[in-house]
Amino acid sequence: SGKLYLVPTPIGNLEDITIRAKKVLTNADYIAAEDTRTSGILLEKIGVHNRMISFHKYNSKERAPELIKLMQDGATIAEISDAGMPVISDPGYILVQECIKNNIPVVPLPGPSAFATALIASGFDAQPFTYYGFLPRKSSEQKPYFKQMSDFRGTSIFYEAPHRLAKTLKTLASVLPADRQMVAARELTKIHEEFVRGTVSEVSDYFAENAPRGEFVILISPNTEEAKQLSWKELIALVNDLVDQG
Ligand code: SAM
Repeated sequence: SGKLYLVPTPIGNLEDITIRAKKVLTNADYIAAEDTRTSGILLEKIGVHNRMISFHKYNSKERAPELIKLMQDGATIAEISDAGMPVISDPGYILVQECIKNNIPVVPLPGPSAFATALIASGFDAQPFTYYGFLPRKSSEQKPYFKQMSDFRGTSIFYEAPHRLAKTLKTLASVLPADRQMVAARELTKIHEEFVRGTVSEVSDYFAENAPRGEFVILISPNTEEAKQLSWKELIALVNDLVDQG
């Protein structure tokens, strides 16, 4: 029977397509692409000529059974998103789930993803980390996530659109300690690749003054606060106080 290949594509630099990805895209019976126009340009540039089927978050529910049928009839389908890894803050999850249900092999290819690329250059410990993808848009709904990041003893990572970044960082700075370290990784693998590193308050102030442009990954350093340890003397004093209070 057929197969589903999950194929990562570049997040900026076209040379990041792998030899294997190109081979799989060339040999597949169909390429299921999130945006056939965007992917058409990419495939043209990397020299892949193949049939495309549109598969995005608005048609994935109806399209998934059709793709499953094709694979049951023996077709191999290579799934790609606009950039980076399919399924990572992109469509694909439903199709993978359906393949598993229908005993169709799922073959993932390794390759670029913005969050992992940003993480390895952040300078923060990569174990453990939490990846949130895009947060909700409303400040009130973002705050519980920022509280989690504030407490988390690992690195927190999320994506944000440039036009929302300044406001989101302002909300972030209202929840996290001002001296917590963070990184804004911008335009990874592209000409204007940049890392804005500093405390939560410094980076938030920076983007309040310099309008964010391009694509961003935001990383928050682990919480390294020592759990408060009382000395024996302090502990005995505390117990005595409590006893005095009855
Ligand atoms: N599937 C992609 C991946 O594997 O990273 C993510 C797709 S998501 C719809 C797009 C978001 O990823 C952007 O808004 C940005 O936050 C992040 N992103 C993608 N490419 C990037 C790049 N070159 N530099 C920084 N962030 C990037």
